[in-house]
Amino acid sequence: MGEKITMGNNGVLNVPNTPIIPFIIGDGIGPDIWNAAVRVFDEAVQKVYSGERAIEWKEVLAGEKAFNTTGSWLPEETLATFKEYLVGIKGPLTTPIGGGIRSLNVALRKELDLYVCLRPTKWYEGVPSPVKRPQDVNMVIFRENTEDIYAGIEFAAGTSESKQLQHYLLNDLNVDYSFNENTGVGIKIVSEEGSKRLVRSAIEYAITHKLPSVTIVHKGNIMKYTEGAFKNWGFEVAETEFAEYTYTWGQWERTKTEKGQEVANTEQKEAELAGKIIIKDIIADNFLQQILLAPKDYAVVATLNLNGDYISDALAAMVGGIGIAPGANINYKTGHAIFEATHGTAPRFANTNTMNPSSVILSGVMMLEYLGWQEAADKIVEALSQTIKDKTVTIDFYNLMENATLLKTSEFADKIIAKL
Ligand code: NAD
Repeated sequence: MGEKITMGNNGVLNVPNTPIIPFIIGDGIGPDIWNAAVRVFDEAVQKVYSGERAIEWKEVLAGEKAFNTTGSWLPEETLATFKEYLVGIKGPLTTPIGGGIRSLNVALRKELDLYVCLRPTKWYEGVPSPVKRPQDVNMVIFRENTEDIYAGIEFAAGTSESKQLQHYLLNDLNVDYSFNENTGVGIKIVSEEGSKRLVRSAIEYAITHKLPSVTIVHKGNIMKYTEGAFKNWGFEVAETEFAEYTYTWGQWERTKTEKGQEVANTEQKEAELAGKIIIKDIIADNFLQQILLAPKDYAVVATLNLNGDYISDALAAMVGGIGIAPGANINYKTGHAIFEATHGTAPRFANTNTMNPSSVILSGVMMLEYLGWQEAADKIVEALSQTIKDKTVTIDFYNLMENATLLKTSEFADKIIAKL
């Protein structure tokens, strides 16, 4: 029955009415939250499209389940299936300890070159939050997913590799630094291609979703040729490829230097009035302060891998924590995408049917949007929001809410389904 999703020559996905979508059930709490979430997806699609559309789920193995049945943490067949079917979804996976694969998630991202880690952060009414006005937080983070200090090129203290590298830096590149005897070394990688494709995706997203700004978050004041270059390449993409849609703070700076600040301010005002997207930048430490003080100033955020890691957790905490934080890893060129809950396997709670499935449900919502099945996505968001507003919630929210009703993972899904 099912058919493959393919990428058209025009760069737009061809999504059949019965797409085959591979999924990884996940380790730890994975089965509990996946089994709850998949019922919500199927019911919503059935309700909205009256049987005209349906997802054909195809299970693929990874993590403990794969290791126990095949002896491999990430079987070749799983990678090949994701490659072939383009769009997939996964539960959290255990990171194997010692030897072999560093992280299954990293391996999947690398193999499919999923260069965008997309993390929307938005508050749903009723979700307990540590900040006064969580409704002001509504940001979409584009975190670069393949480069930076995260690329995994590092050498342990005391090894000959680390010593050779230090020797090379001192003697061939004349680096002025006094290494301690035992020093580990890591390499930070930021390329023009990697930076531009990430910022390009963020700008395209802002255009499609009619958002007012893209903020490039960086530490370019200190790391000029990596983080600073990322900012400059970001401005360059905006100015050369999206000139009719954007106005950058790079342009503002140049106008200020040539004609004074007042002219630059007028120029930016005019761009805003014309509906142009303002491409701003901010130093990462200040950004972490500003999201608490003035979150409304930010819509789309483009940043490097490590900054993005910190920022997405900080923002997730502001809108209710990791139990409700969805994510996706995407290559917009090839169309490959894997949607996933951003939290881990919470092994202590495995098979307790107590954890919050919202993160996987909202990752599925992102996937439906990616497929262009917006009506089904909206339906789920509505039903999920109402379920939380009604204070019928899982333990994580129950513990922080007054007069709430405690539900099991599966019961929470039942409540959502009843509201579809
Ligand atoms: P974790 O995210 O699994 O859990 C931390 C805590 O967060 C839990 O103890 C629980 O209190 C809470 N939590 C997590 N998910 C929740 C949910 N759905 N509802 C309610 N509360 C929830 O982090 P960890 O304990 O550091 O990691 C456990 C394992 O998961 C490790 O093997 C780690 O490598 C792996 N991991 C995988 C992913 C992934 O697959 N994307 C991400 C992070 C960690």
